Amino acid sequence: MKVVYNRGLYLPEIDLWMDAKAPRSRSVISHAHADHIQRHDSIIATPATARLFEHRIGKTRSLLLDFHETSDFTDFKLTFYPAGHCLGSAQTLIEYRGERVLYTGDFKLRAGLSCEPPEIIPCDILIMDTTFGRPHYLFPKDEEVRDELYREIDRAFMNAMQPVVFAYSLGKGQEALQILLRGGYSVALHESVMKIVDIYREMGIEFDGDYRRLDPSDTDGLVVMLPPGSRRGELMKTFRCPYTIYLSGWGMDPRARYRYQTHLVLPLSDHAGFDDLERYVIDSGAKRVYTLYGDDYFASHLRQMGIPAEHLHGEGGPFRKPSKGKGSEKSVAQPSLFDLIE
Ligand SMILES: [Zn+2]
Repeated sequence: MKVVYNRGLYLPEIDLWMDAKAPRSRSVISHAHADHIQRHDSIIATPATARLFEHRIGKTRSLLLDFHETSDFTDFKLTFYPAGHCLGSAQTLIEYRGERVLYTGDFKLRAGLSCEPPEIIPCDILIMDTTFGRPHYLFPKDEEVRDELYREIDRAFMNAMQPVVFAYSLGKGQEALQILLRGGYSVALHESVMKIVDIYREMGIEFDGDYRRLDPSDTDGLVVMLPPGSRRGELMKTFRCPYTIYLSGWGMDPRARYRYQTHLVLPLSDHAGFDDLERYVIDSGAKRVYTLYGDDYFASHLRQMGIPAEHLHGEGGPFRKPSKGKGSEKSVAQPSLFDLIE
């Protein structure tokens, strides 16, 4: 099957857009992160993604499909499988003329605490997110990151500092909240994170422990959680002596804390690392691979392994220089873009 990238993924033989970045009459939405949603006339999504989409962009005509439920279109079949990236995040399997085409969307293979556990889906053609497709992105176990987060927060409290954790409001924020509550901490959440926690609860995810909406004048003994964009905002000035911790897979890069201007960046990622990307390709049995995000490195690595692979599109990493010319989509030097990616 022909696979095209043109401001979104497109399968011309069946006229199907997936995560289209310009408004289309119909698009699959793999998950509700800002860089994957647009005002389309209609969307195909899981119920949780459609609910989050509505929260962020507004209501639209939706074909809702639960995980593992196959929808029969006239010339192809479509099934969603969990991607483990945030609540409702889906991998999309297209079956067309005996061929299985699998689009992972953003995904990870480590099972988290706040969304559906991911699966590896056997396929012929694999279109995958390779945001972290370079060999030094070997993420530590989530348990190790959790322990380090607890140690750093305890250290901040011992030094009479205010721990402030930065986590993207959808996905990372809820995962971080589960981690903090299991560690016995009381947490004050920025409104944007809290609103999505409420939607998670609506969709059946429970958060046990002491958490509340942030009141900046009353944070004694609380871990404060904010979206990454607040790093440079007025809100930060209200904390007397903040100790700032950013949760992101980019924390594997030693320069990350300078880039993000926080005391620490801990590599809690909602994407697959290099080893899990390799594992997906091998275990899925894919005969051909297309990569999205990151750069050409992972595709060329696969070609060296004898697997036909092509890099379709990449927005680079956060430490790259901006690309020249027009096309805001490829302007990678804006930190705000990388606040969106995770
Ligand atoms: Zn995402």
